[in-house]
Amino acid sequence: MKVYNTLSKRKEEFVPLEDGQVSMYVCGPTVYNLIHIGNARPMIVFDTVRRYMEHRGYRVNYVSNFTDVDDKIIKKANEEGVDPSVISERYIEECKRDMKGMNVKPATVHPKATEEIDGMIEMIQTLLDKDHAYVAEDGTVYFKTRSFRDYGKLSHKNLDDLRSGARSLLVTGEDQKQDPLDFVLWKPKKEGEPYWESPWCQGRPGWHIECSVMSRKYLGEQIDIHAGGEDLIFPHHENEIAQSEAANGKEFAKYWLHNAFLNIDNHKMSKSAGNFFTVRDIGEKYDLQVLRFFMLSAHYRSPLNFSAELMEAAKNGLERIIGCVGNLNFLLERASGEEMTEEERESAKQAEAYIAQFDEAMDDDFNTADAIAAIFDLVKFTNTHVAESSTKAFLQALKDEIVMLSDICGLIVDKKEELLDADVEALIRERQEARKAKNFARADEIRDTLAAQGILLEDTREGVKWKRA
Ligand code: AMP
Ligand code: ZN
Repeated sequence: MKVYNTLSKRKEEFVPLEDGQVSMYVCGPTVYNLIHIGNARPMIVFDTVRRYMEHRGYRVNYVSNFTDVDDKIIKKANEEGVDPSVISERYIEECKRDMKGMNVKPATVHPKATEEIDGMIEMIQTLLDKDHAYVAEDGTVYFKTRSFRDYGKLSHKNLDDLRSGARSLLVTGEDQKQDPLDFVLWKPKKEGEPYWESPWCQGRPGWHIECSVMSRKYLGEQIDIHAGGEDLIFPHHENEIAQSEAANGKEFAKYWLHNAFLNIDNHKMSKSAGNFFTVRDIGEKYDLQVLRFFMLSAHYRSPLNFSAELMEAAKNGLERIIGCVGNLNFLLERASGEEMTEEERESAKQAEAYIAQFDEAMDDDFNTADAIAAIFDLVKFTNTHVAESSTKAFLQALKDEIVMLSDICGLIVDKKEELLDADVEALIRERQEARKAKNFARADEIRDTLAAQGILLEDTREGVKWKRA
Protein backbone atom coordinates (compact mmCIF):
# COMPACT_ATOMS: atom_id res chain seq x y z
CA MET A 1 0.00 0.00 0.00
CA LYS A 2 1.45 3.34 -1.03
CA VAL A 3 0.63 6.60 0.69
CA TYR A 4 1.72 10.11 -0.20
CA ASN A 5 3.65 11.62 2.69
CA THR A 6 3.70 15.42 2.88
CA LEU A 7 6.92 15.10 4.89
CA SER A 8 8.90 13.49 2.05
CA LYS A 9 6.69 14.81 -0.78
CA ARG A 10 6.66 11.28 -2.17
CA LYS A 11 4.50 8.20 -2.23
CA GLU A 12 5.92 5.73 0.27
CA GLU A 13 5.19 2.11 1.07
CA PHE A 14 2.97 1.99 4.13
CA VAL A 15 4.66 0.08 6.96
CA PRO A 16 3.00 0.52 10.36
CA LEU A 17 5.04 0.92 13.54
CA GLU A 18 3.38 -2.18 14.94
CA ASP A 19 2.38 -5.17 12.87
CA GLY A 20 -1.32 -5.34 12.16
CA GLN A 21 -2.09 -2.06 13.89
CA VAL A 22 -2.54 1.52 12.73
CA SER A 23 -2.62 4.60 14.93
CA MET A 24 -4.20 7.60 13.29
CA TYR A 25 -4.88 11.16 14.46
CA VAL A 26 -7.11 13.47 12.45
CA CYS A 27 -7.45 17.13 13.47
CA GLY A 28 -11.11 17.80 14.10
CA PRO A 29 -13.28 20.91 13.89
CA THR A 30 -13.56 23.94 16.12
CA VAL A 31 -17.10 23.67 17.41
CA TYR A 32 -18.80 27.05 17.28
CA ASN A 33 -21.20 26.48 14.41
CA LEU A 34 -22.63 23.79 12.15
CA ILE A 35 -19.85 22.22 10.09
CA HIS A 36 -19.65 23.15 6.43
CA ILE A 37 -19.03 20.69 3.63
CA GLY A 38 -15.37 21.77 3.42
CA ASN A 39 -14.95 20.45 6.97
CA ALA A 40 -16.75 17.31 5.86
CA ARG A 41 -14.08 16.51 3.28
CA PRO A 42 -11.36 15.38 5.73
CA MET A 43 -13.99 13.55 7.78
CA ILE A 44 -15.19 11.53 4.80
CA VAL A 45 -11.77 11.03 3.23
CA PHE A 46 -9.98 9.85 6.35
CA ASP A 47 -12.93 7.73 7.47
CA THR A 48 -12.55 5.97 4.12
CA VAL A 49 -8.80 5.55 4.71
CA ARG A 50 -9.66 4.00 8.06
CA ARG A 51 -12.27 1.69 6.55
CA TYR A 52 -9.84 0.55 3.87
CA MET A 53 -7.15 -0.13 6.48
CA GLU A 54 -9.67 -2.20 8.42
CA HIS A 55 -10.62 -4.05 5.27
CA ARG A 56 -6.92 -4.88 4.84
CA GLY A 57 -6.97 -6.44 8.29
CA TYR A 58 -5.42 -3.67 10.40
CA ARG A 59 -6.78 -2.77 13.78
CA VAL A 60 -7.16 1.00 13.57
CA ASN A 61 -6.99 3.26 16.57
CA TYR A 62 -8.53 6.49 15.30
CA VAL A 63 -8.45 9.68 17.33
CA SER A 64 -10.10 12.94 16.31
CA ASN A 65 -10.41 15.94 18.59
CA PHE A 66 -12.98 18.64 19.11
CA THR A 67 -11.43 22.07 19.69
CA ASP A 68 -13.82 23.40 22.31
CA VAL A 69 -11.94 26.46 23.57
CA ASP A 70 -11.30 29.16 21.01
CA ASP A 71 -11.93 32.86 20.35
CA LYS A 72 -14.86 32.13 18.05
CA ILE A 73 -16.59 29.91 20.62
CA ILE A 74 -16.11 32.55 23.31
CA LYS A 75 -17.43 35.29 21.04
CA LYS A 76 -20.55 33.31 20.23
CA ALA A 77 -21.08 32.45 23.91
CA ASN A 78 -20.88 36.14 24.82
CA GLU A 79 -23.36 37.02 22.07
CA GLU A 80 -25.83 34.47 23.40
CA GLY A 81 -25.03 35.23 27.04
CA VAL A 82 -24.23 31.60 27.85
CA ASP A 83 -21.19 29.66 29.02
CA PRO A 84 -18.81 28.66 26.18
CA SER A 85 -19.41 25.00 27.05
CA VAL A 86 -23.07 25.43 26.08
CA ILE A 87 -21.95 26.46 22.59
CA SER A 88 -19.30 23.75 22.19
CA GLU A 89 -21.53 20.96 23.54
CA ARG A 90 -24.34 22.02 21.22
CA TYR A 91 -22.13 21.94 18.13
CA ILE A 92 -20.37 18.73 19.11
CA GLU A 93 -23.79 17.08 19.16
CA GLU A 94 -24.72 18.67 15.83
CA CYS A 95 -21.41 17.58 14.33
CA LYS A 96 -21.96 14.02 15.48
CA ARG A 97 -25.39 14.08 13.88
CA ASP A 98 -23.87 15.19 10.57
CA MET A 99 -21.18 12.53 10.84
CA LYS A 100 -23.83 9.88 11.32
CA GLY A 101 -25.70 11.14 8.25
CA MET A 102 -22.51 10.93 6.19
CA ASN A 103 -21.85 7.46 7.65
CA VAL A 104 -18.57 8.62 9.20
CA LYS A 105 -17.74 6.19 11.97
CA PRO A 106 -17.26 7.63 15.45
CA ALA A 107 -13.56 7.83 16.32
CA THR A 108 -12.14 5.38 18.83
CA VAL A 109 -11.78 8.48 21.02
CA HIS A 110 -13.06 12.04 20.50
CA PRO A 111 -11.07 14.03 23.07
CA LYS A 112 -12.00 17.62 23.90
CA ALA A 113 -9.39 20.29 24.55
CA THR A 114 -11.02 21.54 27.78
CA GLU A 115 -10.76 18.07 29.30
CA GLU A 116 -7.03 17.74 28.61
CA ILE A 117 -5.67 20.94 30.16
CA ASP A 118 -3.56 19.13 32.78
CA GLY A 119 -1.72 17.20 30.08
CA MET A 120 -1.10 20.41 28.15
CA ILE A 121 0.37 22.13 31.21
CA GLU A 122 2.61 19.13 31.75
CA MET A 123 3.92 19.13 28.18
CA ILE A 124 4.49 22.89 28.25
CA GLN A 125 6.48 22.44 31.48
CA THR A 126 8.62 19.76 29.79
CA LEU A 127 9.29 22.15 26.90
CA LEU A 128 10.33 24.86 29.37
CA ASP A 129 12.57 22.41 31.24
CA LYS A 130 14.24 21.40 28.00
CA ASP A 131 14.74 25.03 27.00
CA HIS A 132 12.43 24.78 24.00
CA ALA A 133 10.11 27.43 25.43
CA TYR A 134 10.18 30.64 27.45
CA VAL A 135 7.82 32.72 29.55
CA ALA A 136 7.28 36.35 28.57
CA GLU A 137 6.67 39.11 31.09
CA ASP A 138 2.89 38.92 30.87
CA GLY A 139 2.92 35.16 31.50
CA THR A 140 2.56 34.06 27.87
CA VAL A 141 4.57 30.92 27.14
CA TYR A 142 6.12 30.73 23.68
CA PHE A 143 7.73 27.86 21.83
CA LYS A 144 11.27 28.77 20.79
CA THR A 145 11.30 27.74 17.13
CA ARG A 146 15.05 28.36 16.75
CA SER A 147 15.68 25.69 19.37
CA PHE A 148 14.16 23.02 17.15
CA ARG A 149 16.48 22.24 14.30
CA ASP A 150 13.90 20.51 12.13
CA TYR A 151 11.43 23.40 12.24
CA GLY A 152 9.99 23.73 8.72
CA LYS A 153 10.54 20.11 7.65
CA LEU A 154 6.88 19.42 6.96
CA SER A 155 5.90 22.57 5.11
CA HIS A 156 9.21 22.78 3.22
CA LYS A 157 9.11 26.51 3.65
CA ASN A 158 12.02 28.88 3.55
CA LEU A 159 12.18 29.96 7.18
CA ASP A 160 14.25 33.07 6.53
CA ASP A 161 11.58 34.35 4.17
CA LEU A 162 8.91 33.57 6.71
CA ARG A 163 10.84 35.28 9.45
CA SER A 164 11.33 38.47 7.52
CA GLY A 165 7.68 38.40 6.41
CA ALA A 166 6.50 38.17 10.01
CA ARG A 167 8.98 40.61 11.53
CA SER A 168 6.47 43.45 11.59
CA LEU A 169 4.55 41.54 14.27
CA LEU A 170 7.45 42.03 16.63
CA VAL A 171 7.71 45.72 15.90
CA THR A 172 4.10 46.42 16.84
CA GLY A 173 4.94 45.25 20.35
CA GLU A 174 1.69 43.33 20.38
CA ASP A 175 3.48 40.24 21.55
CA GLN A 176 6.73 39.59 23.31
CA LYS A 177 8.25 36.94 21.08
CA GLN A 178 11.96 36.51 20.69
CA ASP A 179 11.49 35.38 17.09
CA PRO A 180 8.68 36.08 14.63
CA LEU A 181 8.04 32.35 14.15
CA ASP A 182 7.73 31.55 17.85
CA PHE A 183 4.19 30.54 18.71
CA VAL A 184 1.96 30.54 21.77
CA LEU A 185 1.75 27.53 24.07
CA TRP A 186 -0.14 29.28 26.87
CA LYS A 187 -1.68 32.74 27.06
CA PRO A 188 -3.01 34.90 29.88
CA LYS A 189 -6.76 35.25 30.33
CA LYS A 190 -8.67 38.25 29.10
CA GLU A 191 -11.77 39.75 30.67
CA GLY A 192 -14.81 37.52 30.12
CA GLU A 193 -12.85 34.50 28.96
CA PRO A 194 -12.68 31.05 30.47
CA TYR A 195 -9.33 30.33 32.16
CA TRP A 196 -7.38 27.69 34.03
CA GLU A 197 -4.72 27.93 36.72
CA SER A 198 -1.16 27.27 35.57
CA PRO A 199 2.37 27.85 36.91
CA TRP A 200 2.71 30.87 34.59
CA CYS A 201 -0.57 32.73 34.76
CA GLN A 202 -4.31 32.17 34.82
CA GLY A 203 -5.05 31.56 31.18
CA ARG A 204 -5.70 29.08 28.41
CA PRO A 205 -3.70 26.98 25.97
CA GLY A 206 -2.68 27.98 22.47
CA TRP A 207 -4.34 25.95 19.72
CA HIS A 208 -1.48 23.68 18.62
CA ILE A 209 -0.61 22.10 21.95
CA GLU A 210 -3.88 20.18 22.29
CA CYS A 211 -3.17 17.87 19.37
CA SER A 212 0.37 17.03 20.55
CA VAL A 213 -1.00 16.18 23.98
CA MET A 214 -4.07 14.20 22.93
CA SER A 215 -2.17 12.29 20.30
CA ARG A 216 0.42 11.19 22.86
CA LYS A 217 -2.16 10.36 25.51
CA TYR A 218 -4.40 8.21 23.32
CA LEU A 219 -1.95 6.84 20.74
CA GLY A 220 1.54 7.08 22.22
CA GLU A 221 4.62 9.20 21.51
CA GLN A 222 4.90 7.89 17.97
CA ILE A 223 1.99 7.36 15.62
CA ASP A 224 1.55 6.06 12.10
CA ILE A 225 -0.66 8.65 10.45
CA HIS A 226 -1.47 12.26 11.22
CA ALA A 227 -3.99 13.89 8.92
CA GLY A 228 -6.10 16.95 8.17
CA GLY A 229 -6.82 19.52 5.52
CA GLU A 230 -3.87 21.05 3.68
CA ASP A 231 -4.38 24.44 5.34
CA LEU A 232 -3.18 22.76 8.54
CA ILE A 233 0.30 21.96 7.19
CA PHE A 234 1.57 25.36 8.22
CA PRO A 235 1.61 26.45 10.91
CA HIS A 236 -0.56 23.94 12.82
CA HIS A 237 1.11 20.66 11.92
CA GLU A 238 4.58 22.18 11.72
CA ASN A 239 4.06 23.42 15.27
CA GLU A 240 2.68 20.09 16.46
CA ILE A 241 5.85 18.39 15.18
CA ALA A 242 8.04 20.94 16.95
CA GLN A 243 6.19 20.50 20.27
CA SER A 244 5.95 16.71 20.17
CA GLU A 245 9.44 15.98 18.92
CA ALA A 246 11.06 18.52 21.23
CA ALA A 247 9.15 17.15 24.23
CA ASN A 248 9.37 13.43 23.46
CA GLY A 249 12.71 13.25 21.67
CA LYS A 250 11.19 10.97 19.03
CA GLU A 251 9.78 11.27 15.55
CA PHE A 252 6.11 12.17 16.02
CA ALA A 253 4.16 10.79 13.05
CA LYS A 254 5.47 8.57 10.29
CA TYR A 255 3.05 9.60 7.56
CA TRP A 256 1.44 13.01 7.13
CA LEU A 257 -1.68 13.00 4.93
CA HIS A 258 -3.45 16.14 3.77
CA ASN A 259 -6.61 16.56 1.76
CA ALA A 260 -6.91 19.37 -0.79
CA PHE A 261 -9.64 21.96 -0.50
CA LEU A 262 -13.24 21.73 -1.35
CA ASN A 263 -13.76 24.87 -3.42
CA ILE A 264 -16.68 26.82 -4.65
CA ASP A 265 -16.17 28.83 -7.85
CA ASN A 266 -12.52 27.84 -7.45
CA HIS A 267 -12.16 29.50 -4.05
CA LYS A 268 -11.70 27.63 -0.81
CA MET A 269 -14.99 27.13 0.94
CA SER A 270 -14.72 28.74 4.37
CA LYS A 271 -16.83 30.30 7.05
CA SER A 272 -14.80 33.49 7.09
CA ALA A 273 -15.23 34.04 3.33
CA GLY A 274 -18.95 33.37 3.66
CA ASN A 275 -18.99 31.09 0.59
CA PHE A 276 -20.10 27.92 2.29
CA PHE A 277 -22.87 25.36 2.56
CA THR A 278 -23.35 23.52 5.80
CA VAL A 279 -23.76 19.78 5.76
CA ARG A 280 -27.25 20.50 7.08
CA ASP A 281 -28.04 22.67 4.01
CA ILE A 282 -27.03 19.84 1.71
CA GLY A 283 -28.95 17.30 3.79
CA GLU A 284 -32.17 19.16 3.02
CA LYS A 285 -31.73 18.61 -0.70
CA TYR A 286 -29.92 15.30 -0.84
CA ASP A 287 -29.37 12.14 1.09
CA LEU A 288 -25.97 12.74 2.73
CA GLN A 289 -24.79 9.54 1.11
CA VAL A 290 -24.79 11.55 -2.12
CA LEU A 291 -22.45 14.08 -0.51
CA ARG A 292 -20.16 11.27 0.55
CA PHE A 293 -20.20 9.80 -2.95
CA PHE A 294 -19.43 13.25 -4.40
CA MET A 295 -16.42 13.70 -2.09
CA LEU A 296 -15.01 10.31 -3.00
CA SER A 297 -15.46 10.83 -6.71
CA ALA A 298 -12.19 12.83 -6.69
CA HIS A 299 -8.81 11.88 -5.32
CA TYR A 300 -8.35 13.42 -1.88
CA ARG A 301 -5.24 15.38 -2.91
CA SER A 302 -7.01 17.03 -5.86
CA PRO A 303 -8.98 20.21 -5.33
CA LEU A 304 -12.68 19.56 -5.74
CA ASN A 305 -15.10 22.18 -6.95
CA PHE A 306 -18.59 22.00 -5.53
CA SER A 307 -21.43 22.40 -8.00
CA ALA A 308 -25.06 21.39 -8.42
CA GLU A 309 -24.14 19.49 -11.61
CA LEU A 310 -21.54 17.38 -9.85
CA MET A 311 -23.97 16.65 -7.04
CA GLU A 312 -26.56 15.53 -9.59
CA ALA A 313 -23.94 13.33 -11.23
CA ALA A 314 -23.08 11.89 -7.81
CA LYS A 315 -26.76 11.23 -7.14
CA ASN A 316 -27.12 9.38 -10.41
CA GLY A 317 -23.93 7.43 -9.83
CA LEU A 318 -24.99 6.31 -6.39
CA GLU A 319 -28.44 5.39 -7.65
CA ARG A 320 -26.89 3.18 -10.28
CA ILE A 321 -25.26 1.09 -7.56
CA ILE A 322 -28.32 1.12 -5.28
CA GLY A 323 -30.52 0.18 -8.22
CA CYS A 324 -28.32 -2.79 -9.05
CA VAL A 325 -28.42 -4.05 -5.47
CA GLY A 326 -32.20 -3.47 -5.39
CA ASN A 327 -32.54 -5.60 -8.50
CA LEU A 328 -30.39 -8.32 -6.97
CA ASN A 329 -32.60 -8.27 -3.87
CA PHE A 330 -35.66 -8.55 -6.07
CA LEU A 331 -34.21 -11.54 -7.94
CA LEU A 332 -32.92 -13.11 -4.73
CA GLU A 333 -36.39 -13.24 -3.24
CA ARG A 334 -37.56 -15.40 -6.09
CA ALA A 335 -34.44 -17.39 -6.85
CA SER A 336 -33.49 -20.85 -5.75
CA GLY A 337 -30.29 -22.88 -6.01
CA GLU A 338 -27.66 -23.02 -3.31
CA GLU A 339 -24.97 -23.94 -5.80
CA MET A 340 -23.84 -22.03 -8.85
CA THR A 341 -23.98 -23.52 -12.29
CA GLU A 342 -20.72 -24.15 -14.09
CA GLU A 343 -21.19 -21.02 -16.16
CA GLU A 344 -21.98 -18.91 -13.10
CA ARG A 345 -18.88 -20.17 -11.32
CA GLU A 346 -16.86 -18.94 -14.26
CA SER A 347 -18.58 -15.53 -14.16
CA ALA A 348 -18.13 -15.25 -10.40
CA LYS A 349 -14.43 -15.81 -10.87
CA GLN A 350 -14.32 -13.07 -13.50
CA ALA A 351 -16.15 -10.71 -11.14
CA GLU A 352 -13.42 -11.11 -8.55
CA ALA A 353 -11.14 -9.16 -10.86
CA TYR A 354 -13.10 -6.05 -9.88
CA ILE A 355 -12.12 -6.50 -6.26
CA ALA A 356 -8.49 -6.62 -7.33
CA GLN A 357 -9.06 -3.51 -9.43
CA PHE A 358 -10.62 -1.77 -6.44
CA ASP A 359 -7.79 -2.76 -4.10
CA GLU A 360 -5.18 -1.68 -6.62
CA ALA A 361 -6.76 1.79 -6.82
CA MET A 362 -6.96 2.11 -3.04
CA ASP A 363 -3.40 0.83 -2.61
CA ASP A 364 -2.27 3.71 -4.77
CA ASP A 365 -2.64 6.45 -2.16
CA PHE A 366 -6.38 5.83 -1.71
CA ASN A 367 -7.49 6.63 -5.22
CA THR A 368 -11.20 6.55 -4.48
CA ALA A 369 -12.07 7.90 -7.94
CA ASP A 370 -10.63 4.77 -9.57
CA ALA A 371 -11.99 2.57 -6.79
CA ILE A 372 -15.51 3.82 -7.51
CA ALA A 373 -14.90 3.18 -11.21
CA ALA A 374 -14.17 -0.44 -10.26
CA ILE A 375 -17.52 -0.62 -8.43
CA PHE A 376 -19.25 0.74 -11.54
CA ASP A 377 -17.53 -1.88 -13.68
CA LEU A 378 -18.73 -4.56 -11.30
CA VAL A 379 -22.27 -3.15 -11.43
CA LYS A 380 -22.19 -3.20 -15.21
CA PHE A 381 -20.88 -6.75 -15.19
CA THR A 382 -23.63 -7.75 -12.75
CA ASN A 383 -26.38 -6.14 -14.80
CA THR A 384 -25.32 -8.07 -17.88
CA HIS A 385 -24.74 -11.41 -16.13
CA VAL A 386 -27.79 -11.86 -13.93
CA ALA A 387 -31.21 -13.01 -15.04
CA GLU A 388 -34.41 -14.38 -13.54
CA SER A 389 -32.92 -17.83 -13.97
CA SER A 390 -29.77 -17.01 -11.91
CA THR A 391 -29.19 -19.14 -8.84
CA LYS A 392 -29.41 -17.71 -5.36
CA ALA A 393 -25.75 -18.51 -4.79
CA PHE A 394 -24.64 -16.49 -7.79
CA LEU A 395 -26.86 -13.50 -7.04
CA GLN A 396 -25.73 -13.49 -3.43
CA ALA A 397 -22.05 -13.65 -4.39
CA LEU A 398 -22.36 -10.61 -6.67
CA LYS A 399 -24.41 -8.72 -4.15
CA ASP A 400 -21.88 -9.42 -1.38
CA GLU A 401 -19.07 -8.04 -3.53
CA ILE A 402 -20.87 -4.83 -4.43
CA VAL A 403 -21.96 -4.27 -0.86
CA MET A 404 -18.48 -4.99 0.50
CA LEU A 405 -16.71 -2.55 -1.84
CA SER A 406 -19.35 0.13 -1.27
CA ASP A 407 -19.06 -0.37 2.46
CA ILE A 408 -15.30 0.27 2.34
CA CYS A 409 -16.21 3.64 0.82
CA GLY A 410 -18.80 4.06 3.59
CA LEU A 411 -21.63 3.98 1.05
CA ILE A 412 -24.83 2.28 2.15
CA VAL A 413 -26.25 0.64 -0.95
CA ASP A 414 -28.36 -2.17 0.47
CA LYS A 415 -31.54 -0.74 1.87
CA LYS A 416 -32.27 -3.67 4.11
CA GLU A 417 -35.00 -2.58 6.45
CA GLU A 418 -38.34 -3.51 5.03
CA LEU A 419 -40.65 -0.54 5.01
CA LEU A 420 -43.92 -1.19 6.78
CA ASP A 421 -47.09 -0.32 4.91
CA ALA A 422 -47.71 2.60 7.28
CA ASP A 423 -44.22 3.96 6.56
CA VAL A 424 -44.84 3.73 2.83
CA GLU A 425 -48.09 5.60 3.19
CA ALA A 426 -46.50 8.29 5.33
CA LEU A 427 -43.76 8.76 2.73
CA ILE A 428 -46.31 8.99 -0.06
CA ARG A 429 -48.21 11.66 1.86
CA GLU A 430 -44.96 13.55 2.43
CA ARG A 431 -44.21 13.29 -1.29
CA GLN A 432 -47.61 14.76 -2.17
CA GLU A 433 -47.00 17.65 0.18
CA ALA A 434 -43.50 18.21 -1.17
CA ARG A 435 -44.92 18.38 -4.69
CA LYS A 436 -47.59 20.81 -3.62
CA ALA A 437 -44.85 22.98 -2.09
CA LYS A 438 -42.91 22.63 -5.36
CA ASN A 439 -40.07 20.92 -3.48
CA PHE A 440 -39.49 18.51 -6.35
CA ALA A 441 -36.05 17.49 -5.11
CA ARG A 442 -37.60 16.07 -1.96
CA ALA A 443 -40.48 14.52 -3.89
CA ASP A 444 -38.05 12.79 -6.22
CA GLU A 445 -35.92 11.68 -3.34
CA ILE A 446 -38.91 10.01 -1.70
CA ARG A 447 -39.84 8.31 -4.96
CA ASP A 448 -36.24 7.03 -5.21
CA THR A 449 -36.21 5.84 -1.61
CA LEU A 450 -39.38 3.90 -2.26
CA ALA A 451 -38.06 2.53 -5.56
CA ALA A 452 -34.93 1.29 -3.82
CA GLN A 453 -37.22 -0.74 -1.56
CA GLY A 454 -39.02 -2.17 -4.55
CA ILE A 455 -42.11 -0.01 -4.12
CA LEU A 456 -43.76 1.18 -7.29
CA LEU A 457 -45.94 4.28 -7.40
CA GLU A 458 -48.75 4.92 -9.80
CA ASP A 459 -50.43 8.29 -10.07
CA THR A 460 -54.13 7.68 -10.77
CA ARG A 461 -57.23 9.84 -10.84
CA GLU A 462 -58.17 8.53 -7.40
CA GLY A 463 -54.73 9.45 -6.03
CA VAL A 464 -51.46 7.61 -5.68
CA LYS A 465 -51.56 3.83 -5.73
CA TRP A 466 -48.62 1.71 -4.74
CA LYS A 467 -47.53 -1.89 -4.88
CA ARG A 468 -44.49 -3.92 -4.02
CA ALA A 469 -42.50 -4.99 -7.06
P1 AMP B 1 -11.44 24.02 11.18
O1 AMP B 1 -12.70 23.86 11.97
O2 AMP B 1 -11.39 25.25 10.34
O3 AMP B 1 -10.21 23.84 12.06
O4 AMP B 1 -11.39 22.83 10.12
C1 AMP B 1 -11.54 21.45 10.43
C2 AMP B 1 -10.97 20.63 9.31
O5 AMP B 1 -11.61 20.94 8.05
C3 AMP B 1 -9.48 20.86 9.05
O6 AMP B 1 -8.87 19.62 8.76
C4 AMP B 1 -9.45 21.78 7.84
O7 AMP B 1 -8.26 21.65 7.12
C5 AMP B 1 -10.63 21.23 7.06
N1 AMP B 1 -11.18 22.19 6.09
C6 AMP B 1 -11.68 23.42 6.34
N2 AMP B 1 -12.13 24.00 5.19
C7 AMP B 1 -11.91 23.11 4.19
C8 AMP B 1 -12.17 23.11 2.77
N3 AMP B 1 -12.76 24.13 2.15
N4 AMP B 1 -11.81 22.02 2.06
C9 AMP B 1 -11.24 20.96 2.67
N5 AMP B 1 -10.97 20.89 3.98
C10 AMP B 1 -11.30 21.95 4.75
ZN1 ZN C 1 -4.39 19.37 15.20
